[in-house]
Amino acid sequence: AENRIFNFSAGPSMLPLEVLQKAQSQMLNYEGSGMSVMEMSHRSKAYDEIITTTQARLRRILNIPDNYKVLFMQGGGTMQFSMVPLNLLQKGKADYILTGYFAEKAYKEACKFGDIKVAASSKEQDFTFIPKQEDLNLDPEADYVYLCANNTIYGTEWQYVPETNGVPIVADMSSDILSKPIDVSKFGIIFAGAQKNMGCAGLTVGIVREDLLGNAKENTPVLLDYKTLADKDSMYNTPPTYAIYILGLVLEWIENMGGVEVMQEKNKKKAAMLYDYLDSSDFYTTTANKEDRSMMNVTFRSPNAELDAKFAKESAAAGMSNLKGHRAVGGMRASIYNAMPIEGVEKLIDFMKKFEAENK
Ligand code: PMP
Repeated sequence: AENRIFNFSAGPSMLPLEVLQKAQSQMLNYEGSGMSVMEMSHRSKAYDEIITTTQARLRRILNIPDNYKVLFMQGGGTMQFSMVPLNLLQKGKADYILTGYFAEKAYKEACKFGDIKVAASSKEQDFTFIPKQEDLNLDPEADYVYLCANNTIYGTEWQYVPETNGVPIVADMSSDILSKPIDVSKFGIIFAGAQKNMGCAGLTVGIVREDLLGNAKENTPVLLDYKTLADKDSMYNTPPTYAIYILGLVLEWIENMGGVEVMQEKNKKKAAMLYDYLDSSDFYTTTANKEDRSMMNVTFRSPNAELDAKFAKESAAAGMSNLKGHRAVGGMRASIYNAMPIEGVEKLIDFMKKFEAENK
């Protein structure tokens, strides 16, 4: 399509062009129904097929075992910060691993509801790394261990799933779900806001192991109890119908491309191109610890804040938006989720080289 730019936003972020075009073609009249998906009753036959197909595709793509429920929720990743402790605290204890802004937010929220411990933290080193297994101070009596799989702001990503000796792991995969294969069976709960790799804002996907359902605290609001949603196949109330439809189109696109293995290959390639260039440059520096670098969010900086600002401005003028880093980190951040084409990364590297030559 004409006049579309490469959008490096951390989220909401780029969607595959094919997805937008299909949504456009179905906008006014979805498959002969005479109406848009937006106008459809969530209890209609046409919509039932959309939500059922979408769930089945997600199960297939992520190889989700039968003893896990897939839940379509609202409230973003942030509402999960409350739902997780409300649903899982029974003995009243949980371990949190602090690797960034959103892990810390989740921790602070959980502290309202129980005896919450920090099992490890990289805060003292500006969240530049992911703690190693031997540095996790895990309580075998904890109800769960919480981690944030990809730290959107700091550009670090877990490269391993910790061993917790049977204590369920809760993972916030908001910014790396669908970017690579995962072994769902190693987790108790996986959740993700849809607005990065899954579709548009308004939908949060939960993958919840069945034995963790039904233990919510007594006064838990009805919609914050995973069991409410699980018992009604995410139809206790009106689900975010259009956002689920868009997720379905994104999943169809992923399957047509060859699945999450192919996504991973492409993502590895894109990230390696950027990191290799950054490592070879004596102009740019990276902030994240090398072994813990994110495949989705690449953080870097130029020699000073003034040049960072100039970079953001000039790259936007050149057709690449949202490269300014988060205010907590400064510098730049290139978010290169599934939908970012390799051409976008090539264009960015060309720009970086030119900028380096002009400002050295
Ligand atoms: N977790 C992660 C890893 C995120 O990147 C974000 C948003 N950028 C959130 C949670 C918060 O999500 P939301 O804005 O959907 O509440």
